[in-house]
Amino acid sequence: MTNIKNIVILTRQKKYSNLKSTKYLFLLIFILLFSGSNFAFQNESDKLPRPKLVVGIVIDQMRWDYLYRYYERYGSDGFKRLLDEGFSNENTYISHLPTSTGIGHSTIYTGSVPAVHGITGNSFTFNSTGKGVNCVGDVNVQSIGTSSNDGQKSPVNLLVNTIGDELKLATNFRSKVIGIAIKDRGAILPAGHAADAAYWLNYKRGKWITSTYYMDKLPQWVDSFNAQNLAEKYLAGDWNTIYDINTYAQSTADNKPYEGLLKGQESPTFPIKTSELYTSEDYSVITGTPFGNSLTLDFAKKAIEEEELGARGETDLLAVSLSSTDAVGHRLGINSIEVEDTYLRLDKDIAEFLNYLDKTQGKGNYTVFLTADHGAAHNTQFLQEHKMPVYPADLSMMKKEMNELLEEKFQIKDVIRNVGASMVRFNYKLINENKLDEQEIRDVCMEYLRRDPDVLFVVDFNKVGDAAIPEEIKSRMVNSHHPERSGGIQYILNPNSGPSTQKGTSHSNWNPYDAKIPLVWMGWGIKKGGRSVKQVHMTDIAPTVSSLLRIQPPNGNIGKALNEVLD
Ligand SMILES: [Zn+2]
Repeated sequence: MTNIKNIVILTRQKKYSNLKSTKYLFLLIFILLFSGSNFAFQNESDKLPRPKLVVGIVIDQMRWDYLYRYYERYGSDGFKRLLDEGFSNENTYISHLPTSTGIGHSTIYTGSVPAVHGITGNSFTFNSTGKGVNCVGDVNVQSIGTSSNDGQKSPVNLLVNTIGDELKLATNFRSKVIGIAIKDRGAILPAGHAADAAYWLNYKRGKWITSTYYMDKLPQWVDSFNAQNLAEKYLAGDWNTIYDINTYAQSTADNKPYEGLLKGQESPTFPIKTSELYTSEDYSVITGTPFGNSLTLDFAKKAIEEEELGARGETDLLAVSLSSTDAVGHRLGINSIEVEDTYLRLDKDIAEFLNYLDKTQGKGNYTVFLTADHGAAHNTQFLQEHKMPVYPADLSMMKKEMNELLEEKFQIKDVIRNVGASMVRFNYKLINENKLDEQEIRDVCMEYLRRDPDVLFVVDFNKVGDAAIPEEIKSRMVNSHHPERSGGIQYILNPNSGPSTQKGTSHSNWNPYDAKIPLVWMGWGIKKGGRSVKQVHMTDIAPTVSSLLRIQPPNGNIGKALNEVLD
């Protein structure tokens, strides 16, 4: 429509000017005809209906209950806007183990599970070679934007496609797909293999970087953004609570013995003098403050503008992950004023981001989904203060004692490489070199673990069919077992098994505190103001986005599209 109007206006204006204008008119018509515009070749109504842009927002360590824990203090245009204008799946669970970042991000964007997508932890070992890798580690690529090896990262270890990959295939690669997060794994795994870019933060320099997997040099706009040194600007302002500290009704007192410290901080209390906790050589402290989230969303907005996401006539995908919430939670525990303040600030940041999307894409022209890679447990000492049961488990002791039993039997030290994140991992190099009977090793460990009061269930994956375990839990164990990349034995601890000396908190278990996540949708194609309490899974997100976009689900998808979400 605009095109026709332009021509008419142009024609009218030119009538009164000299004859040269006719030349420009023909030139304009020529451009319109051969630029492949809708005007020239098809009616707007023939165009396949799709949103201009899909934005996935993954909030690292956001428990589902944070939507409501701080509800009364959220503004109307952040989390509440998503809930009011969008659709919330109120019972969304992670169906894999351990519940951790690399796996969560992979699962959200592939609709798959570790047994299929191959990301079995933030780092893992290949059993056949004994080689350990970071889940996004790739020595065959180089850093771009830094001289450190922080950029030697790619999705090489992810064995399946993402939503973005399928979107690329569906539009013959005209769609743009970009991943952004402070954490490398939070940017790379969601973006997938065919992505145009993934950007993550070089913590020390506070600058956005990438790798040769995506490009040979940073785009000019990324250099310019980095040159603003926003990390410094944020940190120079210190971290004070946004409201009077005495009004943080959802949190414990500011100073608790089980709260950890930022590097250089003396007590875990407000005001947090971030201005004194960084140097021009080290901005890493920003990752453990709410400013890390603000910096990420600043960068995401710039990416939308500069890459013209949603503005090129094709559906684009932006995967943004907010990682600072995880660092704040790990350090201080989920009942801290710091976590409450982080979410109140995040609510404002999200409001601003949605507002930006309204302006650039137009209200209702884009689709947002917001979810989390995992939740988190309460601190064990905090629970004990309130007489709630905890079962602290000592994993290093478990490893030591099993290794002693194995040494007694085989006269070989350190047959077990690692005990953690629900798995016992063997040292296959030692097993092969010494021609040990692997089944005998498994049997020794199984006997030990069955007797350990901290262990609720244990499975030898060679005999998984025999395991008498509630189906809900067993299916998660099976979903998570990749023979080359997982431990041969999986165990489940009692609930709240964090060590009694733990500061802050952690996550990795099947229990609702770690495994129940928010899932809220809003915008193009999404039912307005809806809510469902039907139990669904993290694996259902990718097939739902695929249905919305009328594209194939990712090639490892095992989830089911959520019909109730779609308008
Ligand atoms: Zn974490």
